[in-house]
Amino acid sequence: MNKDIEIAQQTTLEPIHNIAEQLHLTREDWEPYGQTKAKLSEQLFEKLKHKKSGKIILVTSINPTPAGEGKSTVTVGLGQALNQIGKKAIIALREPSLGPVMGLKGGAAGGGYSQVLPMEDINLHFTGDIHAITTANNALAAFIDNHIHRGNTLQIDARRIEWKRVLDINDRALRQTIIGLGGPKQGVPREDGFTITVASEIMAVLCLATDLQDLKQKLAAIVVGYTFDNQPVTVGDLKVEGALTLLLKDAMKPNLVQTTENTPAIIHGGPFANIAHGCNSIIATKTAAKLADYTVTEAGFGADLGAEKYFHIKSRAGNIQTSAVVIVATVRALKMHGGIAKDKLATENIAALEAGMDNLQKHIETIQAFHVPFVVAINQFPTDTEQETTFIQEWCQERGYEVALTTVWADGGKGGIDLAEKIIAKADGFNSTYQPLYDLDEPLTEKMRKVAQKVYGAHDIELTKSAQEQLRFFEEQGWSNLPVCMAKTQYSLSDNPALLGRPTGFTITIRELRASIGAGFIVALTGDVLTMPGLPAKPAALQMDVGEDGKAKGLF
Ligand code: ADP
Repeated sequence: MNKDIEIAQQTTLEPIHNIAEQLHLTREDWEPYGQTKAKLSEQLFEKLKHKKSGKIILVTSINPTPAGEGKSTVTVGLGQALNQIGKKAIIALREPSLGPVMGLKGGAAGGGYSQVLPMEDINLHFTGDIHAITTANNALAAFIDNHIHRGNTLQIDARRIEWKRVLDINDRALRQTIIGLGGPKQGVPREDGFTITVASEIMAVLCLATDLQDLKQKLAAIVVGYTFDNQPVTVGDLKVEGALTLLLKDAMKPNLVQTTENTPAIIHGGPFANIAHGCNSIIATKTAAKLADYTVTEAGFGADLGAEKYFHIKSRAGNIQTSAVVIVATVRALKMHGGIAKDKLATENIAALEAGMDNLQKHIETIQAFHVPFVVAINQFPTDTEQETTFIQEWCQERGYEVALTTVWADGGKGGIDLAEKIIAKADGFNSTYQPLYDLDEPLTEKMRKVAQKVYGAHDIELTKSAQEQLRFFEEQGWSNLPVCMAKTQYSLSDNPALLGRPTGFTITIRELRASIGAGFIVALTGDVLTMPGLPAKPAALQMDVGEDGKAKGLF
């Protein structure tokens, strides 16, 4: 089987105007970014507002291995399969962050014969949205420091500035920095630090805003720090929400591309699912739903992180109704949950698989708790044996769970036809709406506890002393009615990445709270989650190159 990048480079892409025409878009609805990418106009959603929305299908997964379990691949493959069986389908995905692309993953645009293309562009600079977010974020940091340097009329306490600079690269050396050194002409010295761009509140704001005016309002509400007498200072206080909106004007427009089978795909926004809310933009999902009968979208990492936030944060903010969920499971991840080391996952081991099924069971229960129908999709890898995939199928059938074996990575859309038929049957038969696991008017601790208990299976939560103080302060500020965005490891249902399978009896430690008032959620940091990841010993970047023909190499 060819590598992802070879398949991508061998695929003949349709000019983007053909894809736009397939969606019945007029020339005013989009603007080209080269031959194979386009930006959808700001007015498009407004124009389609009164049209009935198609069904939305969410793709999530069990707790993944570090390489990912193929959610993006299955999302793309399912979209292609739906088109192959004559349905009008579209895909809505996140934009990849250069952090994981250069670090662990080497590419995040699907895989095999189920990719979004041009994958080199999508994985690297694409249409510049993430750079625009980096710039807007860092412009705000500069405005804050300039305000202090110029006399600090807002009385911002330089020791209590929450706003960090960002970079879309894993760079541990920037986690904690000191800025403003060099005397009075260089500003006011203070401790600072960087987070990765995709963890920036601006990324979350862009993904949760419903239009440009809403974006501006949300930006104005961002709390950047506190005054000497402990009052929040907002972007609105600094009067820079207009400038930030201007910097983000084009980044707010969703990007249109196509898949390996020329199925339309909208790729827009890319917050991480551990330290942020993990879903592509509301505007992308809602526009997609107006353009097709079925929109297949994805939420990052496992259902404990991505799907939980998709339902509690994104669906609430965007009033999004989801008709069915695909839970992606792989033989290799289930064996890992059954206690097998990463380097032994390619060997058949039914006993380990059986031991790992508990992890899938927990995620199924979570989706059931949201009251949305689901299908389990086994994403078949070349190393899986027939006994192993049959085992998972029978395990599901015995429990009455709908299951489909998908080979979309190896076969493209035709490898997902069974899944497509099963998911349509679920989606078409579902008229009700999902039920959140907590109400917004519950206290923040209760919301965190409910997620920990109902989604992770924890015994309880425990707040560190400093988190308790933050909680009291946030309550005094009137921020209790916001949803919580739990920052947790993706590898385990608990906050300890080493606890695989379905751990029980554990306590989730809430180490720190952060107020993302612009985005409209309170981030609860558990365990050792870092907001600026580091690079591994052998970064994926070591494989990358540009050939003599100018083509990208090594993006997996
Ligand atoms: P996720 O969205 O869950 O992070 P991706 O879809 O990005 O996962 O896939 C991660 C990597 O695994 C990609 O490089 C992709 O090509 C590869 N991959 C996905 N599914 C398969 C499969 N069935 N067989 C082999 N490789 C796969």
